[in-house]
Amino acid sequence: MKIAFNQATTMKNSTLKTDLEYCEKHGYDLIEIRLDKLKDYLKEHAAEHLKQFFDRGRIKPFAFNALEFISFRDEAGYRQIVDDLKFLCEIGDVIDCKKIIVVPTFDVGDYTRMQIQDETVRVLHDLSDRAQPYGVSLAFEFVGYPNCSVNTFGQAYDIVKAADRDNIGVVLDCFHFHAMNSRLDDLRQADPAKIFVFHIDDCEDLPAGALRDRHRVWPGHGCVNLDAILGTLREIGYSDMVSVELFRPEYWDWDIERTIRTGKETTESIVRKYFP
Ligand code: ZN
Repeated sequence: MKIAFNQATTMKNSTLKTDLEYCEKHGYDLIEIRLDKLKDYLKEHAAEHLKQFFDRGRIKPFAFNALEFISFRDEAGYRQIVDDLKFLCEIGDVIDCKKIIVVPTFDVGDYTRMQIQDETVRVLHDLSDRAQPYGVSLAFEFVGYPNCSVNTFGQAYDIVKAADRDNIGVVLDCFHFHAMNSRLDDLRQADPAKIFVFHIDDCEDLPAGALRDRHRVWPGHGCVNLDAILGTLREIGYSDMVSVELFRPEYWDWDIERTIRTGKETTESIVRKYFP
């Protein structure tokens, strides 16, 4: 199981350059690059510069985060998503990063689950067509908030199954999985090859529906049943990668190296029990 760092964990005060240096120093295998941090980086450096860093180092790019709110968009909103997709595909071509996380829309109105599925599948097909020539895959991430149009693992997996494309899979995020009571049975029935990204995190013990990203804590420090999720992943044969992804304002104010080091230590201490 390769260990990745997701830049959301240091979002407020860090940069791509700083995250990369400390991630390399602390032995991460992979990094998930945020779109905003990438755009900031490219104001001062060429993409080729980033490629050289990855060529020299141990750490490799794994995925870009994220194209947000892909479904139920108006024309201008969707055009921005398509532009960002093209931008990430082109940068991904230079640095060899071939996955993009895509996120469904919130507060869409009174649509049924089937209407949401139809609209999301339609959009995923269009984005998949555009990503395919670059060899890029799309990882669809449900969000465990009550007002997100896709908010459980089962619902997200059904959408990915209905889309039925080689370059479309799902993101499993432990916080989102816990936050709206996703079912372990749905995970147990999943094809491990369709889990494109695995986000690890934990959270405070608030009720379902009340949890937000700011309640995330280091893996093993909260109430998410990570043992059950990791045990199930081992059972179904998933062992590709795990990425630590926090959004906790308190950790954003820590010294950046301490945050990056703690993310690695807490992730390893729980993951290594299942994936030595
Ligand atoms: Zn996530």
